[in-house]
Amino acid sequence: MSMPEEGNSISTKDDSNAGNISLAADKTNAHWAETYAKAGWKIFPVWAMDNGKCSCGGKPGCSPGKHPRTRNGLKDATSNITQVKAWWEPWPEANIGYRPAEDEIVIDVEKEGLDNGIIQELEKKYGPLPKGKASNTGGGGKHLFFRLPIDAPEIKNTARPFEGLDIRTHKGYVILPPSNHHSGNSYSWVEGNGFDIPELPIEWARAIARAQGVTKSKQTERTTKKIPKGQRNAKLFKMCSAARDKGKSDDLILKEARKYNETLCSPPLDDEEVIKIVTSSARFKHDNGTQEEKDDYVDVEEEDKGHAERLYPHWINEFRFAMHTGKWMHWNGQYWEQVTDQYAAKIASDILEDEFRAELGACGSGAISSATRR
Ligand SMILES: [Zn+2]
Repeated sequence: MSMPEEGNSISTKDDSNAGNISLAADKTNAHWAETYAKAGWKIFPVWAMDNGKCSCGGKPGCSPGKHPRTRNGLKDATSNITQVKAWWEPWPEANIGYRPAEDEIVIDVEKEGLDNGIIQELEKKYGPLPKGKASNTGGGGKHLFFRLPIDAPEIKNTARPFEGLDIRTHKGYVILPPSNHHSGNSYSWVEGNGFDIPELPIEWARAIARAQGVTKSKQTERTTKKIPKGQRNAKLFKMCSAARDKGKSDDLILKEARKYNETLCSPPLDDEEVIKIVTSSARFKHDNGTQEEKDDYVDVEEEDKGHAERLYPHWINEFRFAMHTGKWMHWNGQYWEQVTDQYAAKIASDILEDEFRAELGACGSGAISSATRR
């Protein structure tokens, strides 16, 4: 496997991260896990391959060498060293799952995508991708890591917006080197690329969002047009509220607000003012967007526990969430096929509605559907 040489460093662009850390080659997964955690990367343990078999011993829903060893999977991802040691000391061979940061995406180019030249084709249309943190996957593909530009449209964690290419956001995960793969190969870092995460060119971000079905009108909400005096506070407040609706952390919202202010406000507001706006946006319970907009994307991670328990008996035989791909699968009677999040959400909503109808009996259907609508 190819590794950065002794003395190479991981450095991420994120100022909050620990800066440069020395890496040594030919160390265990446990060593690398600790190194990544020290660099501020959010990771969690994943079952590894052992003599051609998944070390889970064949648990239900096993995706060999790729599924989480902890109960909550990617939600457990952390850069807390104590936790990382607590995982990898008893499991030194565990593969390493990586949850991208909230403002980061990983372009997962499958072997097929490398073979069909999808990256080159897209580069011709949307400009060259900057070189940065990248790994060779065990399956013969590549993972390319990027920060999203501040004016990027929302990008989802989905498979195949383009043939042979998946997108992983903080709602999904990828496997990091030197984890092993069911092909018998291991993941490795692309040598010479370093560990800086370059910014994804805006044309790429827009193209990906378009391919994922984000409408033009939604995209134009976040234009690069300069925001003049008199509108800056309101726009910044709106941006913070939208970020809050997406469940972003205070730190990230402040970071984005500062960048938004610097990039788009003309002239930029004082930092003090930006902090005030971010703080006040936390105090408001707001309701952005129409019901229709909300319905077209239901976040499966936010499904509450009560719903999950109700759905489980129906769900397990018909629908499963494949953690390694971040996709819902549906048993069509012959094989598991991929379905869209929207389709899975629709079925979930139908099942819940039926249950409530049965339980509440006499209640009007209006009350029922509003109770099951998210
Ligand atoms: Zn397994």
